[in-house]
Amino acid sequence: MRLGFIGLGHMGFPMARRLLGAGHTVAVYDTREEAVNAAVALGAQPASAPREVADAADTVLASLPSGQACLEVVTGTQGVAHGTRIKRFVDLSTVGSEASRAVHQALHERGIAALDSPVSGGVAGADNGTLTLMVSGAQAEFDALKDLFDILGRAIYVGAKPGSAQTMKLLNNLVAATTLAVTAEAVVMGVKAGLDPRVMIDVLNAGSGGTHASRDKFPRSVLPRTFDYGFATGLMVKDVRLYLEEAARLEAVGVIAAAVAEQWETTLREEGADSDFTAVIKPIEAAAGVIVDGR
Ligand code: NAD
Repeated sequence: MRLGFIGLGHMGFPMARRLLGAGHTVAVYDTREEAVNAAVALGAQPASAPREVADAADTVLASLPSGQACLEVVTGTQGVAHGTRIKRFVDLSTVGSEASRAVHQALHERGIAALDSPVSGGVAGADNGTLTLMVSGAQAEFDALKDLFDILGRAIYVGAKPGSAQTMKLLNNLVAATTLAVTAEAVVMGVKAGLDPRVMIDVLNAGSGGTHASRDKFPRSVLPRTFDYGFATGLMVKDVRLYLEEAARLEAVGVIAAAVAEQWETTLREEGADSDFTAVIKPIEAAAGVIVDGR
């Protein structure tokens, strides 16, 4: 299978590296030349536009930062929809179901299959091939790509309806955004009461309050105060906003999602879009006048 990969960022680059490592031919494109050069150093073939990737590959994957970027990569004048070889497009980005349906529609009109396949598991999962991939689109296309998905992690078929996997990913990320924010809030309170941050995380993980936030994100990036988990605050806010948009369309907005969104908007304002999302704790610490230091 001749592959293409567009968007070689925190997630895309390690995924492309795994596909190359498994022996696939991979044509790559990113707006950042240095990212393309780094992939070429690993054996990828460089392309100068998405269309060129789709001229070289039958299966094109993408990991992009927004729905707007995806639409541009697919339908732009140099988009993959104009490629001569492409048969299917696999979108690994989190863009929401509306953007995903627009991508499906644009490609369908040109006889190209589309699978939306957002991922969970972070940079470590992309590195190790332990991502969870949520996939929607034609079942036959999903089946045809099983070996490919196995290189990246575990793929779960969500349904045939375009965009369903995006809805699944957004609700997953709302839960992740909530547990990280509420763990930060609770641990800040504990520090103010005189508790040791490392002891609190140990107890949460041994008890009923443990989540991925306390098991992985806190020990790795918050307690050592490295704030380098690998997911930008701007992307987390994008996902929470997309969740709220989908929930509003469905008339299913609840008070918890709204409160969580407010905390993330504060993080965006105070820490900036490029900060790591584990910095969500910093405005909470500032408001309480304490630091959660587990070094
Ligand atoms: P990133 O910003 O690190 O990478 C995005 C890449 O896309 C960059 O290299 C950028 O130069 C490139 N790009 C932007 N516009 C482009 C265009 N028009 N054409 C070609 N390349 C373009 O982002 P990331 O953290 O790798 O996330 C990518 C996607 O995966 C996002 O949708 C994000 O929400 C999702 N995601 C990220 C994580 C994570 O932990 N980082 C986890 C799960 C899902």
